[in-house]
Amino acid sequence: MTGDGSVLVMVVDVHPQMAEQPEYIHSYLNSVIAFANYHLAFSRMNKVALIAANHHETRFLYPQPTGEKVDRQKDGRLEYLNHVDESIAEELKDMMCKTQSVKQTESLLSGAICRALLYTKRLEEEETIKKKLNSRILVIKISTDTGSQYLNYINTYLSAQKIGAAIDVCVIGSDCGLLQQGADISGGYYCCLQDVSELLQSLVMMYQPDIATRKKLNAPPPESVDYRAACFCHHTLVDMGNVCSNCLSVYCRTVPLCSTCDVIFQTDRPVMKALKRKK
Ligand SMILES: [Zn+2]
Ligand SMILES: [Zn+2]
Repeated sequence: MTGDGSVLVMVVDVHPQMAEQPEYIHSYLNSVIAFANYHLAFSRMNKVALIAANHHETRFLYPQPTGEKVDRQKDGRLEYLNHVDESIAEELKDMMCKTQSVKQTESLLSGAICRALLYTKRLEEEETIKKKLNSRILVIKISTDTGSQYLNYINTYLSAQKIGAAIDVCVIGSDCGLLQQGADISGGYYCCLQDVSELLQSLVMMYQPDIATRKKLNAPPPESVDYRAACFCHHTLVDMGNVCSNCLSVYCRTVPLCSTCDVIFQTDRPVMKALKRKK
């Protein structure tokens, strides 16, 4: 670990579909908060931020915009850690109480990752001696995914790559191709867990070391990355599709007009070329 400590920005998926399994949500949120505490307790120079995303909003659980207000010690716990836990619990309760009917199965994770990038950038600007912070983003996801935020994800990943911010991803349940691409593009870890009971152990073992320390560890080699793109018509990942030559929009089938840039496709072009060659 470097002496300057590291900044960990956690992006946590809190889609209301978790509420269908009460034991699951308990274990999930406990693991997330325990890992945030673990990171802070590891070094007094370490900083943590938590951003939650559900189907209709993203929100900073910690730190809060109103500023720090550390209470007196309770139950023998460290005041600072107690303050972090209470802040997270309060904001989460408020966020979950406002949840109404849910039609969208996917959380707004791409927006939350964007906010995480902006947060680390702002911390760098606020440093008295301008320098690159030892920071990383950790995305923890459970809900099922579609390709509806495909462009937002890709734009976020390219921005992260440009500013040198690694995005780690820990997915519970089935693999998530889009987040796997993000970890690969930005130089972070990707891991898919079968069960939520493995979450805390995996976070501590795999995601605690910072980027500089990881180079010295003998981590398992990355798996092959699913680099499929999502089509712009149905927002599903496609193996093979048509690409607009003007704006690079992807379509899963032949369309007469590009819905992004309004270019009309000349479907008779291959025939014209064939005729020219014969002359
Ligand atoms: Zn389509
Ligand atoms: Zn186009």
